[in-house]
Amino acid sequence: MALFVGSAIGAGLILDGQLYYGANETAGEIGHIRVTEDGPQCSCGNYGCLEAVASGRAIARKAARLLKQGYPFAHLPHLIDSPDNVTAADVARAAAAGDVEALRIIHEAARYIGIAVSFLVNTLNPERIVIGGGVSRAGEMLLGPIRETVLTHAMPVARNRVQIVAGRLGSDAGPLGAAALVMDRLFPSIRLAKSELLNCWPRR
Ligand SMILES: [Zn+2]
Repeated sequence: MALFVGSAIGAGLILDGQLYYGANETAGEIGHIRVTEDGPQCSCGNYGCLEAVASGRAIARKAARLLKQGYPFAHLPHLIDSPDNVTAADVARAAAAGDVEALRIIHEAARYIGIAVSFLVNTLNPERIVIGGGVSRAGEMLLGPIRETVLTHAMPVARNRVQIVAGRLGSDAGPLGAAALVMDRLFPSIRLAKSELLNCWPRR
């Protein structure tokens, strides 16, 4: 299972070696799982969706609000020219430099992601969850609290089996996934070719 955490949040489900689309091809819309009762409104119209509290946009929005409220960020104000221009990458950079307030924002987002991942772990019993997207560049700052939340929220048998790891494809993940999707639609029986995509992808 692959989880994309960037400006939006979504998942790709591979069940028994096959990409799972769902009845209306909307499977994997994990970003619209409601993870908190009192969260902000999401782009889908509901309140408290994962995407509204843990996406890159949500992280930036929260940092901007707290900066304007005068929270004592140690490093973040030195990385930006205005709270209105803060990005999730700025927050992650500040957190990595020891900014406790910035780290608190990353950890909160990670715990929300962990709650949604726990639903998936209980429901699908996956072997591995690969987390990619821009926010995943925060590395262990993000992955650690996700794993901790899964440990406290998911069923023991399922949580003890699943591996939660960072993706290694970086920005190549999107185009590679799109290419694999086309292969899957045009040549559904040629599974070897899809796996070989990685070998023919240009190295950078
Ligand atoms: Zn939503």
